[in-house]
Amino acid sequence: MTTFDYDLFVIGAGSGGVRAARIAANHGAKVAVAEEYRVGGTCVIRGCVPKKLLVYAARFHGEFEDAKGFGWHLPDGASFDWKTLIANKDKEIDRLEKAYRGNLERSKVSVIASRAVFDDRHTVRLLKEKRTVTAKTILVATGGWPYVPKIPGIEHAITSNEAFHLETLPKSILVVGGGYIAVEFASIFNGLGVKTTLVYRGEKILRGFDEDLRDDLTAALRKRGIEVQTGAAPAAIEPMPTSILNEKMQGPNLRVSLSNGGHVDTNGVMYATGRNPNTANLGLDKAGVMLGAKGEIKVDGQSRTNIDNIYAVGDVTDRVNLTPVAIREGHAFADTVFGQSPWSADHSLVPTGVFSEPEIGTVGLAEHEARAKFGAVDIYKTRFRPMKYTLSGRDERMLMKLVVDAISQKVVGCHVLGPDAAEMIQMAAIAMRMGATKIDFDRTMALHPSAAEELVTLRDKWVPSAVAAE
Ligand code: FAD
Ligand code: NDP
Repeated sequence: MTTFDYDLFVIGAGSGGVRAARIAANHGAKVAVAEEYRVGGTCVIRGCVPKKLLVYAARFHGEFEDAKGFGWHLPDGASFDWKTLIANKDKEIDRLEKAYRGNLERSKVSVIASRAVFDDRHTVRLLKEKRTVTAKTILVATGGWPYVPKIPGIEHAITSNEAFHLETLPKSILVVGGGYIAVEFASIFNGLGVKTTLVYRGEKILRGFDEDLRDDLTAALRKRGIEVQTGAAPAAIEPMPTSILNEKMQGPNLRVSLSNGGHVDTNGVMYATGRNPNTANLGLDKAGVMLGAKGEIKVDGQSRTNIDNIYAVGDVTDRVNLTPVAIREGHAFADTVFGQSPWSADHSLVPTGVFSEPEIGTVGLAEHEARAKFGAVDIYKTRFRPMKYTLSGRDERMLMKLVVDAISQKVVGCHVLGPDAAEMIQMAAIAMRMGATKIDFDRTMALHPSAAEELVTLRDKWVPSAVAAE
């Protein structure tokens, strides 16, 4: 019988890899995990967690503005220090990294600080340690990496990776893209006082989201001071001619020419144009693992690749690229392969938040998706000014929308834009997972005064104005 160094070798100690390694070890497997950068992966080190900390920082801006209407007076105005924020954020990330490492070690998982690549289907080469190890089962959990198009001057641009470590906050920034990272970082920079422009190549940001969310968020971002330019993409980035730079070199130092003939002068350019699965130079060809068109690892419902001892979870498989999904996939893999209790992660009804300002929380089908799937749908929606904004005077509406299958009356989509939207959607997702109908929502007692109560008090079906006018 062949013997291996490990029962399981995990490549990548991010959300999916860490969960899989710990659960497999708790089931009695001998497990090692290789990490080339920092334990915790994208989410903990340079994704969800530091991002949310910056979101909190940026939101104080609006809070200070809103406070005035409630009688608060900030004597000397408010000032902000980026270096303090970054230092405190780094401290928290160090603490979390230690906690992740400690949890792995307590589960008796060997943590190897090295890049790992395949030599063959059972052998992994540890590049830093210059040795190979063998494992019966190998899990690839290498995540994704920012994609940036190759345009002249792209070397002047940063991605989210660098945004977390900027020495100083630029006076102005151009954010490229219209997805999660672009709108979240545009809101962060804007909230921190940076003159922010968002350039998106399509007609409307957040492709795939419900149209009402897309429209209302665009309007709100503009109202909050972000210049949103659609139908345009950078064609080139150039350092500004010195003749244009002012004497103290304090003006914009980059000129970005756009595909629509215009240009933006700015102090920084951040690309948020998607992420590619991290499969380059991983030796997957030596192991015979099949990839898809974007370089993602092709897996079945049990996260198994075409090679029966090699599995993959998380962003590297490009299914639903969110942390809780990677964690579930890793957990299901470990229970299935090492715990004799097979199950698989369910990729339907995944709630998600976009931590822009205002924020989005959404679960289930967008209206256009529900119409395509069910034909007839009932729409319930309301736009209103959150109570807090009555005294603060902020001119911003909240949106709440339910999409209901007209036949079964099941709520198949719930979309919220406004304060605490993500927190609300986590709860709505439970109800929808249980198959709640519109009547179940109606029967639920409202909690007053709250914004969330609108979700259980939506009485009238929404009728498009063209139809209503007939
Ligand atoms: P990762 O967490 O990326 O982990 C992969 C690990 O593998 C990394 O640590 C990497 O260094 C390591 N690695 C790669 N190759 C090798 C190799 N050959 N050898 C050894 N180690 C290797 N998701 C949410 O749900 N909510 C959010 O709010 C959110 N915000 C985000 C904000 C940003 C800016 C970004 C970039 C992402 C965000 N995400 C968010 C997405 C989330 O971070 C990912 O979905 C999640 O981290 C995926 O987990 P994973 O285990 O697949 O990969
Ligand atoms: P997204 O895929 O969400 O968005 C990428 C954006 O870049 C799209 O608007 C896309 O346009 C645009 N784009 C792509 N290529 C080009 C190009 N060549 N030129 C100009 N624009 C381009 O990716 P993100 O990088 O924002 O985030 C990656 C993933 O990480 C997300 O999809 C999500 O799964 C996860 N994430 C989750 C968060 C959360 O849960 N809050 C936060 C951050 C990230 P188009 O729409 O036209 O294709």
